[in-house]
Amino acid sequence: MDKTADIVIIGGGIIGLSIAYYLAVKKAGRIIIFEKGQLGEGSTSRCVGGIRTQFSTEMNIRFSLESLKTFEQFEEEFGVNPEFKKIGYLFLAATDQEIGVFKENVALQRKFNIPVEFLSPGEIRSRWPHLRTDDILGGTFCSRDGYAGPNEILSGFVNGAKRAGVKIYEGMEIVRISLTKGKIQSVKTKDEEIFAPVVVNAGGPYAASIGEMAGIKIPVKPLRRQIFVTAPFHLTDRPVPLTIDFHRGWYFRQEGNGLLLSGPLDPKPSFNLNIDYEAMAETSENAMYRVPTLEKARIARGWAGLYEISPDHHGVLGKVPEAEGLILANGFSGHGFQHSPAVGKVISELIADGAASTLDISSLHIERFGKGELLEEPLTAFKE
Ligand SMILES: Cc1cc2nc3c(=O)[nH]c(=O)nc-3n(C[C@H](O)[C@H](O)[C@H](O)COP(=O)(O)OP(=O)(O)OC[C@H]3O[C@@H](n4cnc5c(N)ncnc54)[C@H](O)[C@@H]3O)c2cc1C
Repeated sequence: MDKTADIVIIGGGIIGLSIAYYLAVKKAGRIIIFEKGQLGEGSTSRCVGGIRTQFSTEMNIRFSLESLKTFEQFEEEFGVNPEFKKIGYLFLAATDQEIGVFKENVALQRKFNIPVEFLSPGEIRSRWPHLRTDDILGGTFCSRDGYAGPNEILSGFVNGAKRAGVKIYEGMEIVRISLTKGKIQSVKTKDEEIFAPVVVNAGGPYAASIGEMAGIKIPVKPLRRQIFVTAPFHLTDRPVPLTIDFHRGWYFRQEGNGLLLSGPLDPKPSFNLNIDYEAMAETSENAMYRVPTLEKARIARGWAGLYEISPDHHGVLGKVPEAEGLILANGFSGHGFQHSPAVGKVISELIADGAASTLDISSLHIERFGKGELLEEPLTAFKE
């Protein structure tokens, strides 16, 4: 193994691989990725692949629009079919307050020319008669939204990064980061020390523990979300959008011949990856409430994954004043998959060119938490 590198990336998930790919394209130097398990085994392989432009803040919308460019021409650039299915995202509101939030969102999204529709309960009923709508006050729908394959996107980045010379080591955990006079010197695995002036924290739900190695407190917490999939079930001949019952914090979409149903999100942080019976029961209850015919469906399988939640549900990106050379790409709060192309671009620019030019990421710096400069995202991971 090389004893030196120009850039070390800790974490072989979608974020680490996207950053590595865009750095390599820029010929930014010798790049090494360390992954403690297998590539993608963290949140990336457990995510449901949702891609949407319906966000409530300019920042998230800009990250979505930039990333969409990559998803839409993924096969040309990476030679991998991303399995991008533009089935649309339908958000449902059940209270006046939610309708208020949705109306503000639509006004903001339309400023970005996003073709989002605001729908009455009657319009929702006639387009998607399988939904219970007697308690729904309205909704929003964008046909450009949808989902893609996390494994497909990851393998596109992996192949691209490898072709461009990135070295990837699986089964190697970084256990220590050394600094001298506030500057990054090296990272250590159990047996090796690799010297590098730049280290990227792409540790997903483990971001805080990697920060601790460098003496930095990163306010990103792991929250478990359970997911269940039904046995083959024919709901309707019409296309089924990814439908979010915003009030109940529940969503579903088609998954093969069955339906993917979101389970509960834990209120407390943990690294627990088990699924449990109570969660399955709650999921079934939400499903049968909103889609009564699902009474006849049967849950066939499930899994759990960890969201990496920041206090204001936006990424924590950029340099760290107390540790020169440490770069953060953390805290995507349930949106890291869909924003990974834009994150790769801006972080590679920050490292190779000294500043991000594709998007202004200055308000995503870690210091915002100490200064109280939080950006809130009402359409959060807690609901989706
Ligand atoms: C159930 C669920 C559904 C989701 N749905 C969506 C969705 O629809 N759309 C969307 O955009 N996002 C979604 N997400 C969020 C998305 O999965 C994450 O934002 C994204 O995968 C984060 O990628 P990452 O590379 O930062 O993290 P990860 O994929 O977790 O990768 C981090 C990697 O770092 C490794 N690592 C950690 N510490 C060390 C160390 N010390 N040394 C070496 N390696 C280390 C880990 O093993 C891991 O593989 C969902 C998440 C979950 C859990």
